[in-house]
Amino acid sequence: MRWPVSRGACVRSGFCCKVATCAVGVAHGAPQRGCTFLGGSRPGEYSCELVTRRPELSEIMAIGSGCSSTLFNEDRDSVLQGFTKS
Ligand code: SF4
Repeated sequence: MRWPVSRGACVRSGFCCKVATCAVGVAHGAPQRGCTFLGGSRPGEYSCELVTRRPELSEIMAIGSGCSSTLFNEDRDSVLQGFTKS
């Protein structure tokens, strides 16, 4: 089976941003848990609205560096399983 993304890539599951808000999000007023900058409504479609508004922050937030939550992440697994069905 061939995957459309590398196994460590971010697939926009939203998991990490729901579990703990990043330091940049907290510094911009989001709560420690359940970041209010998380946009989107389902795994595979989440995005950071703070980065959308302030793209210069993406580097210090390590956007594009891959997934830090590949294990026990059911939302990520469901997105990856959807790739194999399409
Ligand atoms: S600020 Fe953006 S990257 Fe950081 S936790 Fe919130 S949604 Fe995620």
